[in-house]
Amino acid sequence: MLDLEDYIRIIPDFPKPGVVFKDITPLLADKEASGQCLQELLNLVNGQKIDKVVGIESRGFFFGMLLAQNLNAGFVPVRKPGKLPYTTLLEPYQLEYGMDALEIHEDAISKGEKVLIHDDVLATGGTAKAVCNLVEKLGGEIVQCNFIMELSFLDGRDKLKRYDAFSVLQY
Ligand code: AMP
Repeated sequence: MLDLEDYIRIIPDFPKPGVVFKDITPLLADKEASGQCLQELLNLVNGQKIDKVVGIESRGFFFGMLLAQNLNAGFVPVRKPGKLPYTTLLEPYQLEYGMDALEIHEDAISKGEKVLIHDDVLATGGTAKAVCNLVEKLGGEIVQCNFIMELSFLDGRDKLKRYDAFSVLQY
């Protein structure tokens, strides 16, 4: 077993002063480490039935699609406003300073479908919670939110209290 933390590069003050960025590109570049990470994410799902994996732009797309293929599920991208070409549902959410928003295609999830939400990092939880809202507005049932990393000191899981939320690495 590899220590996956060895494949997360820490970049202080990126993209702005005060943010300690967790760079997953060394993990993506290593076939053993990325394979182990995928397996650990699959272990978190623990055999539960999943119809759709929702990946959050953009770093949630890498393992999101791999998870979907391995879980025999479809993949759904959630993107920043203006990127998805078809009719969308938009969910605004609070950032530390100001607001942002995410979109999903209105036909991406059918009522009652079992959904896994995936992203690289759980920080304050605002992003993942906005995606939960989008999925539920379309009638999806959230089975789990999973992440490569969780920044525990930011208490992101407080916003996800109603859901099962798990991560491979905790900081
Ligand atoms: P939050 O809404 O605060 O939970 O932020 C989560 C989103 O921001 C995810 O899509 C992450 O990719 C990104 N993010 C937040 N903090 C970091 C960080 N320290 N390093 C890398 N990505 C981050």
